[in-house]
Amino acid sequence: MPSYILQSLVAFLSGIWDSSWIKDFKSVMITERLYGVFEGEEEDIQLMQYFVLFEKYLTNKEFFSLIGMPTGGRRYLCPYCSDNVVETGAAILDANYAKLTPNEPSSTEVTCWVCGNETEVERRDCCQSECKGNVIFTDETTYNHFSNTCLTCGNEQQS
Ligand SMILES: [Zn+2]
Ligand SMILES: [Zn+2]
Repeated sequence: MPSYILQSLVAFLSGIWDSSWIKDFKSVMITERLYGVFEGEEEDIQLMQYFVLFEKYLTNKEFFSLIGMPTGGRRYLCPYCSDNVVETGAAILDANYAKLTPNEPSSTEVTCWVCGNETEVERRDCCQSECKGNVIFTDETTYNHFSNTCLTCGNEQQS
C-alpha cells in the first residue's frame, strides 16, 4: 500500500473518529472464518494485522495516537491475543499491543489495545538472564498455548 494512502487513512481515522474507531472498525470488518478460533476472535487477529501494517508506515507517535495508546511505558504481549496467534497459525505476529494499567512500576494488570482484555500479571523477574522483563503471566488454566510466560520475551518460566 503506498504510504500516502495510509497517511490519509490515518488522518481520517484519528481526525474523525478518534480512537473509538477501533470498535466501529471491528464491527464492520469482513473476516474469513479461521480454523480454531471462536467467532469474534478473527476480528482481533485481523485488527492486529492492520496494527502491524500501520506500525510499519507510521512513526511511533502517529501510531500510538491512532490507536489511542499512551506513548509512555513499555509494551507487553497480551496472553489472550498471543494464544489466538498460535491457535490460528498467524505466528509471524507479535501480539505486543498491551501496556501496564495504570502505567506504574507496581501495576499488576496489563490492558491490550487489540482485544481490550485486562489481564492480571505478577511482577517478578523473568527466568531468562538476558531478558529484563518483570511482568509475568502466571495463569496455567485459561489458555491452551500460553501460560506461565514472560510478557516481554514470551518465554515460559521454569517455576
Ligand atoms: Zn489482546
Ligand atoms: Zn522474559
